[in-house]
Amino acid sequence: MTSKKRILMSVPHMGGQEETFVREAFSTNWLSTVGPNIDSFEAEFSKRLSLPERSAVALGSGTAAIHLGLRLLGVGPGDEVLAPTLTFVASVNPIGWLGGHATFIDSERTSWNIDPALLAEVLEARHRAGRLPRAVVVVHLYGQSADLDPIFSVCAHYGVPVLEDAAEALGTLYKGEPVGTRAPVSTFSFNGNKIITTTGGGMLVARDPEWVRKARFWSTQARNPGIAYEHTEVGYNYRMSNVLAGIGRGQLLVLSERVRRRREIAFTYRDALADIPALSLMPQAAFGLHTNWLSVFLVDEKSPIDRDRLIKVLDARNVESRPVWKPMHLQPLFQGAECVGGGVAADLFRRGICLPSSSNLTEGEQAYVISTIRSAFGKSP
Ligand SMILES: *Cc1c(COP(=O)(O)O)cnc(C)c1O
Repeated sequence: MTSKKRILMSVPHMGGQEETFVREAFSTNWLSTVGPNIDSFEAEFSKRLSLPERSAVALGSGTAAIHLGLRLLGVGPGDEVLAPTLTFVASVNPIGWLGGHATFIDSERTSWNIDPALLAEVLEARHRAGRLPRAVVVVHLYGQSADLDPIFSVCAHYGVPVLEDAAEALGTLYKGEPVGTRAPVSTFSFNGNKIITTTGGGMLVARDPEWVRKARFWSTQARNPGIAYEHTEVGYNYRMSNVLAGIGRGQLLVLSERVRRRREIAFTYRDALADIPALSLMPQAAFGLHTNWLSVFLVDEKSPIDRDRLIKVLDARNVESRPVWKPMHLQPLFQGAECVGGGVAADLFRRGICLPSSSNLTEGEQAYVISTIRSAFGKSP
């Protein structure tokens, strides 16, 4: 029997304390973009990443955080920024808003993230040409850390700063250390489909307190001190609401449990599909703790059922699944942009499938997804 309720890929999962913080905002009338929930959410988020208390700025979206982060790194008209081709478009759109342009770099197979060897080649070539890029964007895809040691070592060698887009990787570790803490500026997302959510929102973290102050200033229209509405710099309306920060505080309390559950879901799929050689779980790089924010599988070249067919079969049985991100160098939007390599990302896009991964997915729902996939491959449930 087909499931009546559609099983979605990744949906919000409240922990229980969120409404307490939201109610507090209402009862104290802190219903704008200032208030105690914002201050506490920033402090608690910093603490969760083992950063000094005032390292974080709560914003309206992860995309806004990337925009401000790139501006902090000095990205401006004519600048080149290196970025992985395999990512969500929000990682790179803000480069263009600042007048810069992206050069895309292929993924490596170990983590699916930016290939450190290719990155080193590009930086070396740019150095020889006497025109280094302004910044490098590193993305931790689907909850898996990029290989940060070689990336940071080559970037430090050429003096090019890194922005870590950790939108998909809150809770992810690299060699025991939380991702989104090593770069001068990093960004997170609390969109409704992420591992924790504020319905929509984002966080910028920076190592330099002056940058934290600057990002907060820009996010609130860059209004100069004093009673007059005086402005010296361009600003934005990017601040998070105190109501939504209350949701974030509640969600942060259950983050560790969410990570545990997302991993459990991925490994349950892996074990239950182990006798289907055409399907393999995204690699789990030895250097990190992969949260498996999404359970992503690769469909083998010689599979009797290809990726698109599998998506259709699942859809017909009321299960949502999606292809891996379409690489930026294959996007009409970035036609003409340079891409170094691209074959690995194109292959992952063509064969990769994201399965339902919500932390509130029930055992019964997951069993239903598994049996749908198994019967598609002619296996007993
Ligand atoms: C979700 C996401 C973003 C954008 O975050 P929003 O909060 O939706 O603006 C940026 N980069 C990546 C890789 C993402 O997955």
